[in-house]
Amino acid sequence: MLTRFAPSPTGDLHLGHAYSAVLAHSAARAAGGQFLIRIDDIDGSRSREAYVGASLADLAWLGLAWEGDPVRQSARLGDYAAALDTLRARDLVYPCFCTRADIAASLSAPHGPSGAVYPGTCRDLTPAERERRIAAEPHCWRLDTAQALAVVGDLGWAEQGQGMRPADPLAHGDIVLARKDAPASYHLASTLDDANMGVTHVIRGADLIASTDVHRLLQALLDLPTPVYRHHPLVCGPDGQRLAKRDAAASLASLRASGVAGETLAINLRAGRLPTGYSLQMP
Ligand code: GLU
Repeated sequence: MLTRFAPSPTGDLHLGHAYSAVLAHSAARAAGGQFLIRIDDIDGSRSREAYVGASLADLAWLGLAWEGDPVRQSARLGDYAAALDTLRARDLVYPCFCTRADIAASLSAPHGPSGAVYPGTCRDLTPAERERRIAAEPHCWRLDTAQALAVVGDLGWAEQGQGMRPADPLAHGDIVLARKDAPASYHLASTLDDANMGVTHVIRGADLIASTDVHRLLQALLDLPTPVYRHHPLVCGPDGQRLAKRDAAASLASLRASGVAGETLAINLRAGRLPTGYSLQMP
């Protein structure tokens, strides 16, 4: 068994991150497997190096040891570009020149599990038009999801303890695989990395269940193995809302500063016991 914890260095880790990391770590340890850290740092505008160090210090404080050096997404851009090239060669992705405002203005854009479903404005541009605009305009690359599904057929994944769950990538519309401002989207990078790292069990928050629809499709298209998934409940604060990076009181740094013992906290989280006022809830 190989599990991972994959923080984005865009803020301080909080109790929800600790819960996720503890579950992934203890699943690997219980099975005599390995636990790895990945730093999801391809979002150049939001990632801060200071949060990388702070996150690793938080995990060490919890007593979670990991194998080897953390994997950095920013060091793996070549792999993301190569995967995109493969999909481009198979005509499964297309350049999209729409701005957020264009998409929001499109009355036909319904809402999907991950926001507005792209109305497909750029899907049917001619090859000549694409070439001309690629040279002149910022663009992202979108997966032609319907076409991709036609290639791979129906998909599902094993949700630990619950059997197979059907994947519904079509509900997401044509998802972005490479952003205007970043060489890969979370979906593409995360799917490729989990495969490259040899992750056998993806243990992460239930807020990411819908992402697994998309990750499963990318695995099928790119001939990658499918890990087992476990989407765990989210830690909610005293207001009943799931924690966010701005909830300073729940940050691991502030718990540490107030004298909480990290290893005791980890033992409690592993047993599903949260500090007073916090609870676990499925979204
Ligand atoms: N970096 C992602 C986040 O912090 C987690 C990605 C994942 O676990 O797949 O939300």
